[in-house]
Amino acid sequence: SFRLELHLDDEAATLALGQRLARAVAEIGVGINILLNGDLGAGKTTLVRGLAAALPGGADARVSSPSFNIMNLYPTTPEAAHFDLYRLEYQEPDESLLEFLQDDDTLVIVEWVQYLDKSFWPDDFLLLEWRPATAGRTIELTATGKNAIKTLRA
Ligand code: ADP
Ligand code: MG
Repeated sequence: SFRLELHLDDEAATLALGQRLARAVAEIGVGINILLNGDLGAGKTTLVRGLAAALPGGADARVSSPSFNIMNLYPTTPEAAHFDLYRLEYQEPDESLLEFLQDDDTLVIVEWVQYLDKSFWPDDFLLLEWRPATAGRTIELTATGKNAIKTLRA
């Protein structure tokens, strides 16, 4: 795996990281799995907003936490499926999530991935973990698998 740590001073820096990821995903040309592990208020949805808006076709994507409808689909290239597993603490994961995690066509973004049992995690994923920070946010990015490593290097 390949790992790096970033400090994001403010909301604009979180949006900019989302944009950088969008460019890398477009360059690699496959729908990778982006797994987000951060508490309430970390900036997970903010990052997804920057990411979706910077993908081809994403300028008008209306990004929100999909907490109550389980999944948002954005008409981007690649198509993006946005999950929030906050409620999964009490439920079984949705079949569609498990299918999306296995295919290369869809960019899958999962908030609160810490609630997904490790037995359901894919082999290829980019994990973003928010670390304690006194100001702004600190994020550790770990790429596991061929596509995620290519994306993080890009
Ligand atoms: P989450 O989806 O993880 O609950 P949100 O994306 O809704 O979090 O963001 C929560 C708050 O954190 C927002 O007010 C957002 O502006 C702020 N925020 C995002 N990134 C940063 C950052 N790097 N530094 C400071 N505040 C940030
Ligand atoms: Mg959120």
